[in-house]
Amino acid sequence: MVEIARRGLMFVLSSPSGAGKTTLSRMLLRTDRNVIMSVSATTRPPRPGEQDGKDYFFVSTEDFGLMVNRSELLEHAKVFGNYYGTPKAAVERALKSGQDVLFDIDWQGTQQLEQSAATDLVRVFILPPSTMELERRLRARAQDTDDVVAGRMAKASEEMSHWAEYDYVIINNDVDTSFAQLQAILTAERLKRVRQTGLSDFAKQLREGL
Ligand code: 5GP
Repeated sequence: MVEIARRGLMFVLSSPSGAGKTTLSRMLLRTDRNVIMSVSATTRPPRPGEQDGKDYFFVSTEDFGLMVNRSELLEHAKVFGNYYGTPKAAVERALKSGQDVLFDIDWQGTQQLEQSAATDLVRVFILPPSTMELERRLRARAQDTDDVVAGRMAKASEEMSHWAEYDYVIINNDVDTSFAQLQAILTAERLKRVRQTGLSDFAKQLREGL
């Protein structure tokens, strides 16, 4: 089978907390071996069950500041009073080797990536089917206190105001349907001519009858 070398893409999923983004990300990582997750650095404390180096790199505010000063982050933002940022080196390595990188970042980080990495970027926004369902999903998690849930509900409306800055929008009524839509986006984006860096050599060989 012919395999054309390609550059990986940066697949950004944004949504308000509770819209289903984490579930969809996990499904994608489980079923597609060519997708890896970008592990962000954050100053927020770990939630129960979260692992350092897997869910996030949990760092002090001081260390986060050092990463910013050393330009080690592709983007960074303050979300709900904590700092979050994307370490640069791992992403660049992956893209070069043809792996796609999945990002769970907010709209502020996505805007920064649009400035610095527009050609590699594919942006997907996930909307919940209704406000009621969003709140139900946030409560079902039972990990956050009432205050945090209320805060996130208030922030959700602000976060959702950025939907038009994304290339694709999925309304997450049903997780299997949404997942199929996500896969369709990825398949099409991988086939873009500019990403298939090995195409010119391949086409040359074809034309020369080799
Ligand atoms: P949580 O604390 O619930 O894990 O994440 C809170 C918010 O921070 C989510 O909207 C998530 O997308 C965003 N976030 C997580 N990592 C990053 C990052 O590296 N950069 C930016 N800009 N946002 C992030």
